[in-house]
Amino acid sequence: MFSPATINRFQNLETPFYYYDLNLLKQTLEACRTASAKYNFHVHYAMKANFNPKVVSTIQAYGFGADSVSGNEVRAAIEGGFSKDKVVFAGVGKSDKEINYALEADIFCFNVESVQELAIINDLAKTKGKTARVAIRINPNVDANTHHFITTGLEENKFGVDIWQLPNVADALHASTNLEFMGIHFHIGSQITDMEVFKNLCVKVNELDKWFEERGFTIKVLNVGGGLGVDYYNPDTNNIPDFESYFKVFNDHLIVKPNQEVHFELGRALVAHSASLISRVLYVKNGLKKNFLILDAGMTELIRPMLYQAYHQIDNISSQLPVMSNESVNNNGELKTQNSKLMTKYDVVGPICESTDCFRKDVLLPESVRGNLIAIRTAGAYGEVMVSGYNLRDRVQSVYSEE
Ligand SMILES: *Cc1c(COP(=O)(O)O)cnc(C)c1O
Repeated sequence: MFSPATINRFQNLETPFYYYDLNLLKQTLEACRTASAKYNFHVHYAMKANFNPKVVSTIQAYGFGADSVSGNEVRAAIEGGFSKDKVVFAGVGKSDKEINYALEADIFCFNVESVQELAIINDLAKTKGKTARVAIRINPNVDANTHHFITTGLEENKFGVDIWQLPNVADALHASTNLEFMGIHFHIGSQITDMEVFKNLCVKVNELDKWFEERGFTIKVLNVGGGLGVDYYNPDTNNIPDFESYFKVFNDHLIVKPNQEVHFELGRALVAHSASLISRVLYVKNGLKKNFLILDAGMTELIRPMLYQAYHQIDNISSQLPVMSNESVNNNGELKTQNSKLMTKYDVVGPICESTDCFRKDVLLPESVRGNLIAIRTAGAYGEVMVSGYNLRDRVQSVYSEE
């Protein structure tokens, strides 16, 4: 929900823009920090969810580390204030240039996704006379029970080293002169809401920890990745994820030795609710079968619905403003809003020249007119980071609650 003052502020701004609620972001970060500190767990923020500089600087102030999936994300994390001792670098296709950059930056750890990559990092480190700290990203074959487009921990996925290949990894580690083995890493998918999935992951982590220790390796870090989901259906009533229950699952099911640290890499859960994409209705097009609400924002500003059939709540926030007339109080003495208007079904679409440029079909909204402000909620994760210049669109603006 936006206050009338906030909606009035929006009315004077050029749309579309991302609106960041920095207070909600801070409350979320505080909740995560408190819940993880209880078990001495280490949290890294997954930069790829949102690398808006203001968001990054807010997050780094809470003492979290950073998880990067490209050389530029490593750079953005360090320049954004994260300590290099807390920066990790994952990704199935790290280029030599990126590896060299991360070696120079002396980051905490590479999360290595194949035997081939292990050899390359060793070679590049040797050339520089350095030792690279590495963890092995293992594909544990655990089903994340999430949308198949955002599942990463099954054998059919490209990520990580399959369990049957671990003997090769062990040999490669033994043969490498310029690698320091830190531990094992997992990331099985995103938008996971079923805690049973994380329990299954813990069982696999325990087995694999044992596998490595039995072969003489010392595991210092158990990195269980991210993936905690958020409630896209209730952005007003359930906008801080249940970090307590999440971390408790790992505390209850993970076997952690005294010399081991447990690391997490949360992206979505930290930032998703803190932003909405605000846009205006350009045209209302009434067809024979459909009514279209044509917005000034499209897949170039928020591609999640088009890319992985994601759901976002869509609100006509102009209709939430109190009606300014002498009929503005209803029989119960409550302030009437324009919401009392007729509800209509719309296909909410963008202006981009693609048929898939539709945020959602058959959205029930108060009857909407040109100029109305539309909020697409819970857009803080994998929103602004995926903005594209397709159709030579203007770059979407960002607006912050504290400015
Ligand atoms: C994307 C990613 C994350 C964060 O995932 P969320 O679902 O946003 O928490 C963590 N670790 C790795 C390796 C990733 O690629």
